[in-house]
Amino acid sequence: MSDNISEELKKRGLKNTKHRAEILDMLKRSDQPVSAEQLFKDMLDRNINVNFSTVYRTLDTLCEKDLVSKLTIESEGGALYEFNSTMHKHHLICLGCRKIISLDYCPLGNYEQTLAEKTDYLIAGHKLDIYGYCPECRKTAHEG
Ligand SMILES: [Zn+2]
Ligand SMILES: [Zn+2]
Repeated sequence: MSDNISEELKKRGLKNTKHRAEILDMLKRSDQPVSAEQLFKDMLDRNINVNFSTVYRTLDTLCEKDLVSKLTIESEGGALYEFNSTMHKHHLICLGCRKIISLDYCPLGNYEQTLAEKTDYLIAGHKLDIYGYCPECRKTAHEG
């Protein structure tokens, strides 16, 4: 677990509890959004004594403090969470199996600037999710 995490908790006025640090660390290391259920199972696997409602409550607290963001897309395991890095992220979502890939690249940076110049708006941000079918789902569709 990095010192970074305790710093980030401290900055938001949160006590560095084991559960908060664990969950943040897991989300930070994951390259795709994770459900509360997955986090819970993962912690149990690593012999961390925690119950599901604690995981949920911890995620809520971290969301409130903007350390974690809750996605608008849901998986079969419920809501999905990811580490809220300073870089916003876009998602590529499979309509077949709901697999989600986080994209680090933002194609809209230049467009925001053009739009700001054109409309005289102060642009505050944007959301973009891209939907499709992943390679596995495409294969199944063609075989079926
Ligand atoms: Zn798929
Ligand atoms: Zn973007």
